[in-house]
Amino acid sequence: MATNIPLTGEFRVTCEYKRKGNWAAGWHTGIDLVGSDTIYGTCDGQVTKIGYDKSYGNYIVVKAPDGKFHWFCHLSSVTCSVGQKIERTTKIGVMGSTGNSTGKHLHFEIRNSSNKYADTCNPADYMGIPNKVGGYNTSNYSISGNSNTNTQVLKTLARNTNLRDKPTTQGSNATLYLANTTLYVLESGVAKADGYTWDKVHIRVNGKEGYMINQNYK
Ligand SMILES: [Zn+2]
Repeated sequence: MATNIPLTGEFRVTCEYKRKGNWAAGWHTGIDLVGSDTIYGTCDGQVTKIGYDKSYGNYIVVKAPDGKFHWFCHLSSVTCSVGQKIERTTKIGVMGSTGNSTGKHLHFEIRNSSNKYADTCNPADYMGIPNKVGGYNTSNYSISGNSNTNTQVLKTLARNTNLRDKPTTQGSNATLYLANTTLYVLESGVAKADGYTWDKVHIRVNGKEGYMINQNYK
């Protein structure tokens, strides 16, 4: 089963996203992971850059289908090439300690569409793990969905259904879509809340993404 995590098996979070400290931004712009050496793609995307930086060491940048940029840093070696289309399960590099690093780890960072330093989102949320130092196992974070719209399951709404910005009816913003609207299920069963199972979906006609109650499909 695929995950959104760049490692497989047992791993540790050794430094949380947004921890305050001696970084140029004043806080940690990614998350630090220690585990098996092989680094996987985390999304069905395309390699846009491979480089070396005195802070980031050897790094790979992958553009994800949602327009964000996944950065994999401090690598000992790179096993992909610029322009290559990858999947979550593609081996793209090997964990290392290049650049400004005190020990072997992966700095995994997700930048928003600007792809600028410190314009980031929470990589723990993307991976589905807590943003908390500790030990984890990727087998607990499998996903059944696929963010590549070419291979996603196309569904049709059986009734008028709200698209919500959070997987809950409580305090989330809602936009109503009518029965027979088609959508792709990006990740099924991402949450159980308010008596429903929620899916992360992508509305086909306008590309909007959010959460819907999965009982409302045909
Ligand atoms: Zn880091």
